[in-house]
Amino acid sequence: MDKDYYKILGVNESDSTEQIKFAYRKLARKWHPDIAGNSAEVLSKFKKLNEAYSVLSNKVKKSEYDRMRTFYNYAKSGSKAEETRNYNSKSEHITKTSSSNPQKKFNFDWNEFINNKNNKSEKKATPINGDNIYTEVEISIQEAITGTEKVINILQTSLCPKCEGRKFVNGGLCKCCNGKGENTSHKKFSIKIPAGIKDCSKIRLHGEGGIGQHGGQNGDLYVTVRIKEENDCQLEGLNVIKKVPITPYEAVLGGIIEINSIGGNFSVKIAPNTQNGQKIRLSGCGIVQNDKIGDMIIILEIKIPKNLTNEEVNLYKKLADVASKNIRDNVYGR
Ligand SMILES: [Zn+2]
Repeated sequence: MDKDYYKILGVNESDSTEQIKFAYRKLARKWHPDIAGNSAEVLSKFKKLNEAYSVLSNKVKKSEYDRMRTFYNYAKSGSKAEETRNYNSKSEHITKTSSSNPQKKFNFDWNEFINNKNNKSEKKATPINGDNIYTEVEISIQEAITGTEKVINILQTSLCPKCEGRKFVNGGLCKCCNGKGENTSHKKFSIKIPAGIKDCSKIRLHGEGGIGQHGGQNGDLYVTVRIKEENDCQLEGLNVIKKVPITPYEAVLGGIIEINSIGGNFSVKIAPNTQNGQKIRLSGCGIVQNDKIGDMIIILEIKIPKNLTNEEVNLYKKLADVASKNIRDNVYGR
């Protein structure tokens, strides 16, 4: 077995990842071309060290390698030849080889196996499309009505520009990504939320999701817009129900109030003698969905202003003095 990674690094199968790392670092320092020179022997040695470490430091690769190694040693011992042949009948390399020498036969197969692995992961990599990223943003009903702009932060993963995901450069661990093959970064997006957006609407930002690998396309970023429930403003389907406070004198005399809705501020007229809870419907000022648009329904609530001045209180006293004697009948509408 010319590629016994344990022998190359001088470690045992039972050694810990830390021990393997330590052994690799020691040897890599010794055989680094900057120190040991650029001879073919040094380069070959350095390459083998890195190859060995790339397999033994990776749990999945290591267990696969251990399995192959055990099998190789088993076949080499020449025992139970029948069983080993059955075991390997799945491999086309074995079935094509007619050699009766198990050592030669399995050595050949093992190298093919490793080379195929390398080819698959490093050279003939198929394009992989980036994943879609899903996130949420919360807005108020008022923002849903008028439209708004929100900044969101996304943790985005991108292919390492130096090694392009191969994790190794010239036989050594890629320094740009520390051998991860990818870099993660926070990315800020400013998202325009259109006026009249419905709760749970999704906004798609094309190509802003996970980065595609080996020429694959980037994923998309999907932002779900959630509209917060509020006390003075609620949604009923596409209609917006909004409570607006008015003063007692506005209710009696009538007046003008400003309402923030789609397309900006509206002046809404309050009729004289407005009752508490009276509604005003603003047609087409609600939530938009496809070709449908809801209304805004304003519920007028008569509220006593806090911190009345003495002058205002005196005017209320005067009002009490001049009120007709049958005020109770008037209030109950009798
Ligand atoms: Zn890299």
